[in-house]
Amino acid sequence: MTLAQPHKKAKALKPNSRRPAKDLCSECGLCDTSYIHYVKDACAFLNQQFDRLEALVHGRSRNLESDRELYFGVHQDMMQARKTEPIPGAQWTGIVSTIAIEMLTQGKVEGVVCVQSSPDDRFTPVPIIAKTPEEILAARVNKPTLSPNLNILDLVEQSGLKRLLVIGVGCQIQALRAVQDKIGLEKLYVLGTPCTDNVSRAGLQKFLETTSRSPQTVVYYEFMQDFNVHFKYEDGSTELVPFFGLNTKELKDVFAPSCLSCFDYTNALADLVVGYMGGEFGWQWIVVRNETGQEMLDMVQNHIETKPVISKGDRKAAVQQGISAYDQAMTLPMWVAKLMGVVIEKVGPKGLEYARFSIDSHFTRNYLFVKRNYPKKLDQHVPEFAKRIVAQYKLPKS
Ligand SMILES: Cc1cc2nc3c(=O)[nH]c(=O)nc-3n(C[C@H](O)[C@H](O)[C@H](O)COP(=O)(O)OP(=O)(O)OC[C@H]3O[C@@H](n4cnc5c(N)ncnc54)[C@H](O)[C@@H]3O)c2cc1C
Repeated sequence: MTLAQPHKKAKALKPNSRRPAKDLCSECGLCDTSYIHYVKDACAFLNQQFDRLEALVHGRSRNLESDRELYFGVHQDMMQARKTEPIPGAQWTGIVSTIAIEMLTQGKVEGVVCVQSSPDDRFTPVPIIAKTPEEILAARVNKPTLSPNLNILDLVEQSGLKRLLVIGVGCQIQALRAVQDKIGLEKLYVLGTPCTDNVSRAGLQKFLETTSRSPQTVVYYEFMQDFNVHFKYEDGSTELVPFFGLNTKELKDVFAPSCLSCFDYTNALADLVVGYMGGEFGWQWIVVRNETGQEMLDMVQNHIETKPVISKGDRKAAVQQGISAYDQAMTLPMWVAKLMGVVIEKVGPKGLEYARFSIDSHFTRNYLFVKRNYPKKLDQHVPEFAKRIVAQYKLPKS
């Protein structure tokens, strides 16, 4: 992947200035660099181009007739996994950090793009190019806020790096793929995570204050496969809040508009995806999209145990009921929510069916959001795979 043409530089936008994608900007960082020149083509919210980029990266676009590819994108392998010795303080068991450390220490790459926290605030993301295992480890755990990962692009070019690993979520990776042949790299590895319902830092504060018993001391949270949000606090204690007890009315405006119009939940353009949504409770979920992804996974085979994915239950009735419940911003009394959570955890969707439940729920919600707020964008912005998924459900007429 060498520089095909001299990269045309343009003046980056100042932070906080209005971005070309306006309200839909996910602050991926591209506009903070001289690569802003490419934004109209590259921005995930200005130019939806999954087919072209899947073909560029994986050699083909997804097979829409295969249920698994329709939902999870191009892939050659998929499994559940966890580290035999989890990394303390990682989001899950630390598979992402371990892959990055092995790629660096075994000389596959010269640097790793990852996200540390601001010294003043653990949830304010600070993208870096890590060049030591310690710097990668310091980036472990999610910063659950929009992160300008691509603001390091000029630095990559200036520092003359030729082999790079980038860790990122879907919107960042879509823009990166669109400009990857302009960066002058010989080899780019992309390690993605799924991502949904991200927030600005202010939105995160509102979410924590509405949902957690101690917003100031949260060190970690995750929407888990047992239908609870799990919070961990500075003192080591945990709190479980059932999904069905969330204050939907208050939280409806919390998520970033970019995330409410995103259809790249499972990070279609990464070489390797590490999440949890297709795994059973306690397990991570790995999607190997291509040979580059397999090469990365091979680096950690001695550090992980794996088992095949499973799929149990039927999500469809729950998704259909959830569409109107969300639309009407229904919030259940906490005791009902807890009871529902227990019942659904026992009989509800598991493994890949849980992942489909989550994808269906988010895609139908997001489809309605785009239709209502950006009707002119609807047809071009929603990819064919998402249209097919949404078409399985009855949506409100307006
Ligand atoms: C904002 C966000 C939302 C997510 N939502 C889902 C989801 O809905 N379903 C699902 O299955 N998985 C989701 N994930 C992925 C999941 O939470 C774990 O990150 C993943 O399973 C890896 O766990 P780990 O222990 O291996 O990661 P760790 O070893 O702890 O490493 C985490 C990595 O995430 C990177 N990172 C942290 N914050 C950000 C950010 N804001 N943007 C980009 N990169 C970041 C860091 O650089 C670090 O390398 C999400 C991740 C993020 C960052």
